[in-house]
Amino acid sequence: MRKKIIAGNWKMNKTPSEAVALCAELKDLVVNDEVDVVYCVPAIDIVPVVEAVKGTNVMVGAEDMSFEDKGAFTGQISAAMLKDAGVKFVIVGHSERREYNHETNEDINKKVLKAIENGLTPIMCCGESLTQREQGITLDWIRQQVKVGLQGVSAAEAAEIVIAYEPIWAIGTGVTATTEQAEEVCKAIRECIADIYDTDTAEKIRIQYGGSMNASNAAELLAQADIDGGLVGGAALKADFGKIVNYK
Ligand code: PEP
Repeated sequence: MRKKIIAGNWKMNKTPSEAVALCAELKDLVVNDEVDVVYCVPAIDIVPVVEAVKGTNVMVGAEDMSFEDKGAFTGQISAAMLKDAGVKFVIVGHSERREYNHETNEDINKKVLKAIENGLTPIMCCGESLTQREQGITLDWIRQQVKVGLQGVSAAEAAEIVIAYEPIWAIGTGVTATTEQAEEVCKAIRECIADIYDTDTAEKIRIQYGGSMNASNAAELLAQADIDGGLVGGAALKADFGKIVNYK
């Protein structure tokens, strides 16, 4: 049985002091031993949030990282820095970074490899635009993102990572994919992992759905056979996040 993983993506919200206050607000609401709970927070919030969640069930993630080790890369943050600060997870290839920072599948692959090399668990995002869905190329597009993103990743490593399926048209829009749409793609991702590796790896890898997940739709989405968790944006910044973590 795969353990569910609910991760909040705080995006560019919360100053360090606001972040600490949110951790205090959510502390008792997000307790659930059956679920891995992760806050993926802005880089400047990492150190205070790691401190704020000490002794709780919450793990801390970053929203991005560099694929370089170190050196003259002004403004970037390395995997080693994240690891040293107490980060366990890192979102890689979020659609907002693909769009605004022009990240390619190849860049994302380098980040996945670098995260693994440094003992961080990547949450590798994939997802189609509305146009691609209307063109009927969703599954081809997602398979390409997954296959390129995982180049050079071994089966044992792949089994430990997290893939987040996030249809772009559902992110921050209040329009959630239907349960059938979300399950169809998450299942296809698992089949793609079985193609690349084997069924054992496919059974182990955790696949999240993301896109306007909230306290009302989480239970139905999380009841699907191939949906092992959620990547949550807007609803991660309020008490609702506790309801998503305790969706049952
Ligand atoms: C996200 O950005 O990963 C996301 C899913 O956002 P939202 O929940 O706000 O749609």
